[in-house]
Amino acid sequence: MPARHNASTSPASPRIEQLTAVLRLLMLLLLPALGWADSLPLPSGQARVLPGPYMQVWQDPQGLADFTQVRALPDSVWQVVGRRDASFGYGGSAYWLRLDLHNPHARSLGWILLVGNPLLDQLDAYGLDEDRVYRAGDQRPFAWRWIEHRQLALPLDLAPGETRRLWLRMQTDGSANLSASLMTREAFDHLEQRSLLLQGLFFGALAAMLIYNLSIFCITRDRSYLWYSLFVASFSLYQFIQLGFALQWLWPEALAWHQLSFPLSSALATLFGIFFTYSVLELNNGSPLYRWVVAALLACCLAVIGLALVGPYQVALIGSFALVAACALIAFVITLLRWRAGYAAARLFALGWCVLIAASLASILTGTGLLPYSLLTLHAQQIGGLIEMTVFSVALAARIRQAQNAERQAQARLIAQERQLRHEQATRLQLQTQISDGLEQRVQERTAALQETLQQLSNANLRLAELNRRDGLTGLFNRQTLSEELERACARAERSRQPLAILMLDLDHFKQVNDRHGHLAGDACLRHAAQRIQQRLRNSDLLARFGGEEFVALLDNTDLAGALDLAEQLRDDLARQPCPYQDQSIALSLSIGLHAGIPDDAGCGERWLDLADRALYRAKAGGRNRVVGYEASALDGA
Ligand code: GH3
Ligand code: MG
Ligand code: MG
Repeated sequence: MPARHNASTSPASPRIEQLTAVLRLLMLLLLPALGWADSLPLPSGQARVLPGPYMQVWQDPQGLADFTQVRALPDSVWQVVGRRDASFGYGGSAYWLRLDLHNPHARSLGWILLVGNPLLDQLDAYGLDEDRVYRAGDQRPFAWRWIEHRQLALPLDLAPGETRRLWLRMQTDGSANLSASLMTREAFDHLEQRSLLLQGLFFGALAAMLIYNLSIFCITRDRSYLWYSLFVASFSLYQFIQLGFALQWLWPEALAWHQLSFPLSSALATLFGIFFTYSVLELNNGSPLYRWVVAALLACCLAVIGLALVGPYQVALIGSFALVAACALIAFVITLLRWRAGYAAARLFALGWCVLIAASLASILTGTGLLPYSLLTLHAQQIGGLIEMTVFSVALAARIRQAQNAERQAQARLIAQERQLRHEQATRLQLQTQISDGLEQRVQERTAALQETLQQLSNANLRLAELNRRDGLTGLFNRQTLSEELERACARAERSRQPLAILMLDLDHFKQVNDRHGHLAGDACLRHAAQRIQQRLRNSDLLARFGGEEFVALLDNTDLAGALDLAEQLRDDLARQPCPYQDQSIALSLSIGLHAGIPDDAGCGERWLDLADRALYRAKAGGRNRVVGYEASALDGA
């Protein structure tokens, strides 16, 4: 009794299910040898059957055999597929598949064999319709499809109880993966509605991220957002192509372009991903090794783009997958290194790359047939991509916050610097004020000192000048001063027409005083005589030491009579007042000659002095201790 696989809900108990599973495994091992496969009962309701285990395959490496030849092949060449997803990896061979279908139901429900790989180049189906051969695939115009759908949907109609053999021919340069499932039309419609909702959400999310990041780029002009936007855009295109939407809606006739657009969009996404990573992780600030690695990856990227444009499709496709895997891995490592170097935002990027690597790995492994097709593996790249894009978007936002923080810190630093600067300025100003104040004070002090010195100097000069005018011994005016004052007194008298008197006084026999009492006594007597004479004169009169023991007095406003009178008083006074010297009292006497009158135009000066001297001579000659005076007019007449 052959084991029957039925993916629809079976009422069998778990124990029986386990048993059938073991039996099925044994069958799968034995069946190729037996060349036998069971017919697949068509499902009902919402159930979906993966027909792989019911299929038999014959590989045609050259892809030259036609349906008639294949039909005539003996059963022994047919192999049981075994895998539920009928996946044969990359190879380029043509695969012929045959499948027996049976309608166990009381009526025809109308079924769809859905081939979930929209990138199959060619898929032919014999036995769907008695007259027609189904021909579709992404290397055939979209309009050829019987059902307008992004995937390959093959309609089936079997009469109640009918068993029919279906032949499929699959040839593709990509992953020879049928990922077929069988379901009723009703289940197909139901699945389609759910699938479109999910795809809509997926592309909607990508579009939102694209618009959002593009807007941020427009506002901030931060290149990272541009690269990220281009990355999202090219990734979206890649997914749009992979899911079959591109051929359906964008270029239903452009088959050559459609073929190369798949590896091209993958390479473009990788290219922008590299630019994005380089920019967002600020690798230009890091070690030069980063730049070399990135340059090498970019070169590989360009090579793959070139391959996609002009090279063989299969090489380009495998190259693009290898590139994605290598870039994701390297980006992950670099991100980790940046994270270790203290770049905080790298943490989230590392997570994003991790997801992408896992998703890409799952996708590639599924494509090569190493992982079985399932809803999860089918959509691994979509789910992974969406998570990755979201994580990157969040990371970019975190980067804004990081930048904001950095700006805030920089601002704070700037403010602190400014404050410090102001403080320094204030200190400097204070210092300057102090210095200038001190300087001013010192200048003032110095000026005052200078002024005082100048004053002292001036006083000294005055004193010196006064000393110059005086006689050292008696303190009277000296002969020089007398000469000057005599001129002035003469001029004054002449101008005012007032009389002027000149007295010449000489101590009698003074040589004897020196001789008897010594020179010191003589000096004392000279001072005594000078003092006694000065006492009797008016303030306006001038007394000078003419030389030796001779004195001269100039008397303003004094006529001859007045002068004689005064001279007599002087003589008398000294005669009465001897000079006290030590215990002694030295008698002194004066002889006085004088001249008085109002000076005429001829002036007076030295001439009058001479006249006074002559009068003195007479007084000496007349016996000393006496006064002799002449009036100017009388003398002038003599
Ligand atoms: P006569 O009565 O004729 O004036 O006689 P006399 O001795 O006073 O005159 P004489 O001209 O012969 O002598 C003047 C003396 O005055 C000579 C000198 O020793 C003295 N004599 C002049 N100057 C000074 C002085 O400064 N100090 C002293 N101690 N003696 C002086
Ligand atoms: Mg004399
Ligand atoms: Mg004398």
